[in-house]
Amino acid sequence: MKKWECTVCGYIHEGETPPDECPVCGVGPEFFKEVVEKEEKTLTQAVLEPDSVAAEKQSKPSFFRKMVMKHHLHPIAVHTPNGVLPLALIFLAIATMFGLASFEQAAFYSLVFVLINMPFVIVTGIIVWQDRYKGAKTKVFGLKIGGAIIVVATLLALLIWRLVEPGVAASPGRWTYLLICLVCVAGAGISGHFGGKLVFGSRKH
Ligand SMILES: [Zn+2]
Repeated sequence: MKKWECTVCGYIHEGETPPDECPVCGVGPEFFKEVVEKEEKTLTQAVLEPDSVAAEKQSKPSFFRKMVMKHHLHPIAVHTPNGVLPLALIFLAIATMFGLASFEQAAFYSLVFVLINMPFVIVTGIIVWQDRYKGAKTKVFGLKIGGAIIVVATLLALLIWRLVEPGVAASPGRWTYLLICLVCVAGAGISGHFGGKLVFGSRKH
């Protein structure tokens, strides 16, 4: 049985031919390369192209790019929206149901905090997409980017509404306001779900 490795996400497929579509990242068969159990350079190749020369051929990424990839800054960055947004939703739900202004304030500051962090989340995400996943334009990456757009758009809508109408959580529009917050959490959930699939989906265990 031959083995084929997805060059975008690292998924290993066993079979005579590569799959029509990678089950993890969605790229086509042209992105699969056959896994050769022991890849040894011929003597001529080794002499002509020592590893150091081969490495230098690749363009050098910037310091920030290296930091992002080496220290996994994207998964670290996404903890802010993924952790704080559900909490903000709970605070806002309590404020909406029981008319508690302090909970509404807690929700407001949580949303501001997440919005400030979103550029970092998006920039690190784009770097990982381009470096590790070759900027592959498949559904899974489209959904991740879509999730981020939903988060930013709904955050802006919530915060602008709050600035225009400070008492929104006690106004007749409060259920719509809460619904927008729910959509915001769902956007983060979509991006997080597919991020988890990309990172853990190619593992056997
Ligand atoms: Zn793949």
